[in-house]
Amino acid sequence: MSKRLLIFGPPAAGKGTHAKRLAGELRIPHIATGDMLRKAIDEGTQFGRHADSFIRRGELVPDELVMALLQERLAKPDALQGFLLDGFPRTISQARALDARMGEQDEAIDAVLALEAPIEVLVKRISGRQICAGCGAVFNRFFRPAKLAGRCDDCDGALTQRSDDGEAAVRQRLEQYRAVTTPVLAFFQAAQWPVHAIDSVGDVDEVYGRLRRAVVD
Ligand code: AMP
Repeated sequence: MSKRLLIFGPPAAGKGTHAKRLAGELRIPHIATGDMLRKAIDEGTQFGRHADSFIRRGELVPDELVMALLQERLAKPDALQGFLLDGFPRTISQARALDARMGEQDEAIDAVLALEAPIEVLVKRISGRQICAGCGAVFNRFFRPAKLAGRCDDCDGALTQRSDDGEAAVRQRLEQYRAVTTPVLAFFQAAQWPVHAIDSVGDVDEVYGRLRRAVVD
């Protein structure tokens, strides 16, 4: 069974939601660079403050910062037997660095799960997205509304919008994805990392089933 996996796709394609579930099922760590950066911001470290200025504008955080974070995480014992990377690599140089690391360890990426969705769906998902400040659960005003408006169903925490889900930052994130991140797919193909295109439109369980079939069955 595939154990070294990447989940790839535009903002709001559902990477985080599906990655959490798949990593749990496969018992491998879910390593999401966006989550790691947000944690550094919440902790108020110098590194976090620096990253925050890029994230708020919807820009990519510089490669060397993200690489340092990721190399440290991949060296932890729980990642030695497998991992699911979410939101990384997002640039060709990040992909090269990952490829070099895999080569040094005599390992390979077993599968790239490339989620796809039309831009109108992404924009609607982002504009409705609400995150619980308490437990991080994700709701959506259009697709998965909380039972009580503004409060989390699971822990009653306050629902908030991500700092980079405002209109200007979203436009910038989509543009960065188009211009800088989509070319990384060609790198995966050249490196012979198997790419599975997954249609991410539809019911969450249905999409998860498509994703699961690509790596589990
Ligand atoms: P995400 O949670 O994956 O949507 O990431 C949120 C934001 O964190 C992105 O818009 C970027 O500003 C930053 N970020 C996350 N992962 C990376 C990465 N691999 N390279 C550069 N910036 C990243």
